[in-house]
Amino acid sequence: MNNKLTGIGMTSQRTRARLIERLREHGIKDEAVLAAMFEVPRHLFVDEALASRAYDDVSLPINYNQTISQPYIVARMIEVLRNGNQLEKVLEIGTGCGYQAAVLAQVAREVYTVERIKPLYERARKQLSALKIRNVNMRYADGSVGLPEAAPFDGIIMAAAAPTLSAVLREQLAVGGRMVLPVGTQEQWLYLVERDAHGFRETQLEPVRFVPLLIGKA
Ligand code: SAH
Repeated sequence: MNNKLTGIGMTSQRTRARLIERLREHGIKDEAVLAAMFEVPRHLFVDEALASRAYDDVSLPINYNQTISQPYIVARMIEVLRNGNQLEKVLEIGTGCGYQAAVLAQVAREVYTVERIKPLYERARKQLSALKIRNVNMRYADGSVGLPEAAPFDGIIMAAAAPTLSAVLREQLAVGGRMVLPVGTQEQWLYLVERDAHGFRETQLEPVRFVPLLIGKA
């Protein structure tokens, strides 16, 4: 293989396989999630200058004060969201560079994703279309209110932290649906919200570090 064309091996199967091994070591067990993470070329979602670090298990800057989430946290959130089941319609709040949406697209029938920063929305749109990922619906909008016109969802993932658990969002869950989101300001925790026929159940999962959910479009 010509390494000049493939980016000096960073796109190689081996580099990605190493990331998958690291995710397994950190406790990710869902084979569908691991396969999806192996499938999506994360280096194409970051600036070229950072591409050599794309398969390290770290978050990286994507401009406009935002970050591409750490692979572990992307995998963990989708694993919790899936809970071993096929996902139908999923909402992601905070598209950023579009990486998590691309991973979600591998394990869900239909993905909706919302971003409030226009240049990020546009770049993500180009990237997903270049990768021929066609089951992602992108919206340039304030996702803090969810996406009522496309609700209900059987999964909702939030990629930015709100100070408190939003009651508006959970109403957009279908019965049997699950929502995974970071909550808090200084100290943040990942939460799982499950909806059943009787109501909602909240579970606090693990400490996390996300950029804040902001209100309005930019
Ligand atoms: N999903 C991304 C992570 C992006 S970081 C990934 O794959 O790595 C979080 C994103 O949430 C940022 O792009 C930020 O602009 C966006 N965001 C913050 N508040 C928002 C809001 N109210 N509506 C939509 N997007 C929001």
